[in-house]
Amino acid sequence: MSGILEVRDVEVTFEVGPLMRRRSILGVAGVSFDLHAGETFAIVGESGSGKTTLARAINGLQGISAGSIRFGEERIDTLGGRAMKPLRRRMSMMFQDPVGSLSPRMKVGNLIAEPFRIHEIVDKNPSVEVPRLLSLVGLTPEFADRYPHQLSGGQARRVGVARAIALNPALIIADEPTAGLDVSVQGEVLNLLNDLRERLGLAMIIITHNLHVVHHVADRMAVMYLGRFVEVGDTDEVFRAPRHPYTAALLSANPEPDPDKARDRIALPAEVPSLLARPAGCEFHSRCPWVAARCKSEAPEFVQGRTRRVACHTPLEPGARPPELEVTQ
Ligand code: SF4
Repeated sequence: MSGILEVRDVEVTFEVGPLMRRRSILGVAGVSFDLHAGETFAIVGESGSGKTTLARAINGLQGISAGSIRFGEERIDTLGGRAMKPLRRRMSMMFQDPVGSLSPRMKVGNLIAEPFRIHEIVDKNPSVEVPRLLSLVGLTPEFADRYPHQLSGGQARRVGVARAIALNPALIIADEPTAGLDVSVQGEVLNLLNDLRERLGLAMIIITHNLHVVHHVADRMAVMYLGRFVEVGDTDEVFRAPRHPYTAALLSANPEPDPDKARDRIALPAEVPSLLARPAGCEFHSRCPWVAARCKSEAPEFVQGRTRRVACHTPLEPGARPPELEVTQ
């Protein structure tokens, strides 16, 4: 596999507060990863962890304050909006809210043909391309005449996928691709994404807080906390034996359908620290059941192991249980 995306030490800074008391906060705080052709990489974390900001930065919708982003051979974080336009043919973004992200006054056929118009592609005939794309996402040609409000959530998401693949991209960034869908429809959409990934050789970045989604589609995953990656690894391995306490807590809150694999629930204090007052030392220490004295003053390095990167002074061994486990199973 060849690398198609290289993200290095990326930071995104926001200015917050009233004019006279402006403060900078780091929404994304030094994130690095590579993505390979045909690979699906999931970024998970609680809401506000910086995952959507990171996705927008990769897509050029959000400027970065440090680091670099390369797509193929090209450095893209220094390009302006106009220069990014041709690249967006090769990098599609699927936004949250399947129905709301479609213009309500346009018929499905026009919505799917819109990327050809935006990118001034004249050698594609919409009357051929629209039925072809509808078929690829499992919809009949008749859907071309419907308006978004006439679609179910799952059908609207399929239309969103058809728009995303219209220009034959190398990479799709999907922000919460199953949000707002019934569980049965979620599975259909995930199967569709997996199928298209294989058939079209796409790479995907999936942004989600839903760990079922991650396990279903992702080859590798990253867990994000307060704008940083705290654990990155092969999805099956991370699910089998999380090494960062935050990953272990997220997984324990994710009910396993197989009772033999059920985990004790690790209850975390609900309060996520403010980005305006990042904790000293390990930024997870105020919520970590394994916290030690050192954690409160010394930030752990993000260490690359054989197959896993973890930012913790004492990464967990398989099956580790918190010192004072609060079982809420
Ligand atoms: Fe917990 Fe300490 Fe590891 Fe941070 S460094 S995750 S506080 S054990």
